[in-house]
Amino acid sequence: MSTKGKHPRADQGTDPFEEKLQRLKEAFNTGKTKTAKFRAEQLQSLGRFLQDNSKQLHDALDGDLGKSGFESDMSEIILCENEVDLALKNLQTWMKDEPVSTNLLTKLSTAFIRKEPFGLVLIIAPWNYPVNLMIIPLVGAIAAGNCVVLKPSEISKNTEKVLAELLPQYLDQSCFAVMLGGPEETGQLLEHKFDYIFFTGSPRVGKIVMTAAAKHLTPITLELGGKNPCYVDDNCDPQTVANRVAWFRYFNAGQTCVAPDYILCSQEMQEQLVPALQNAITRFYGDNPQTSPNLGRIINQKHFKRLQGLLGCGRVAIGGQSDEGERYIAPTVLVDVQETEPVMQEEIFGPILPLVTVRSLDEAIEFMNQREKPLALYAYSNNAEVIKQVLARTSSGGFCGNDGFMYMTLSSLPFGGVASPEHSDAQRSPYSLPFRFPRAVPRRQ
Ligand code: NAD
Repeated sequence: MSTKGKHPRADQGTDPFEEKLQRLKEAFNTGKTKTAKFRAEQLQSLGRFLQDNSKQLHDALDGDLGKSGFESDMSEIILCENEVDLALKNLQTWMKDEPVSTNLLTKLSTAFIRKEPFGLVLIIAPWNYPVNLMIIPLVGAIAAGNCVVLKPSEISKNTEKVLAELLPQYLDQSCFAVMLGGPEETGQLLEHKFDYIFFTGSPRVGKIVMTAAAKHLTPITLELGGKNPCYVDDNCDPQTVANRVAWFRYFNAGQTCVAPDYILCSQEMQEQLVPALQNAITRFYGDNPQTSPNLGRIINQKHFKRLQGLLGCGRVAIGGQSDEGERYIAPTVLVDVQETEPVMQEEIFGPILPLVTVRSLDEAIEFMNQREKPLALYAYSNNAEVIKQVLARTSSGGFCGNDGFMYMTLSSLPFGGVASPEHSDAQRSPYSLPFRFPRAVPRRQ
């Protein structure tokens, strides 16, 4: 028997993915996923999965991250349901050919853009919003007519189990599959050729995924993390700013890719912000945040230890307590932090907020521009000119003046870092991407 064209390990029986991937590719080639009827049925069924298994999903998110019901609804399940509704409502419009203008030479012809699915799409998700970041790209991929392999994070293991055991019962299993594994298995999966890869996770693993995709010239979306600056001007109401910053920093115990990572402000503003942040923390989580049902937990021991190490930076002004048994880190504010300290070198991804003092708006802008372009950037001021200046003189995937990541609830806005194809292609033919296509204009132009 010829072994030509087969993955070498397939013949040794050690490649767990080969056969299943082949079947998914064959299903795509039948054209089954391309009809509007099929897409709508799968989307409706996905909506039913979310409704029927709401309790299982809530329990899993609580088990993995100590998420409260409110946080799970607001940042995971309702967002997914809305995405399903949005896709169902717009499916017919999105599938239509888009007429384009002709020129003198082609006056008698018609020209149009036809939006075609890529084929077999791989979606790799992280653990911090393990339902949202798996299901929302899946909605786009189904609506665009693709077959899909879903690879949930092995770290959020309770959610992984629900997705692996229950989701396939709702989807056409010849076209959609959940495949499990950690770094080694995902590496093995990535050796295969996909038609599109949608990866959400860390920049470190993003490089591994991009290298693997390059071997097959596979187009890719990388949704990565980083440090999101938050500038607070002297002209503001410190309590209002503190309420908003605290809410978005400590949501999901700080494990949010678009959370404000650090504050830049003057020494005088730091002195006003610290008591205001203390007020906000007490108001949200009570006198002892460890007993609050509204504060989540760190995902695992490795991240807990990493965060515990960061508590030694600068000076603890608020919080600083931790409990390894519960993977609890108190909502913490660090002051007098130097930019050379570890907490300012890496994405914090936990309930710790460092304050770095600057002497002026110019210095703050220079500080932000010396670093990687962030996924999100925030500015607070009562002076609209200050907000406009920060917006005009910096670059980031998303920007919000006088609020946190509330803009994420707007499906009319695109999402991603500065290099994300959702930004660059948003004006062109967003539907040609398998995901979240109709987000019209990039926030920053
Ligand atoms: P991660 O990069 O460690 O893991 C993401 C996925 O990659 C997981 O499914 C994991 O199994 C897989 N993986 C891990 N190591 C691998 C390897 N060596 N080879 C192949 N695959 C591998 O990220 P994480 O820790 O799960 O998530 C946190 C990161 O995700 C943070 O940096 C955060 O900012 C980022 N994030 C970004 C967004 C966004 O929308 N931009 C959203 C959420 C999280």
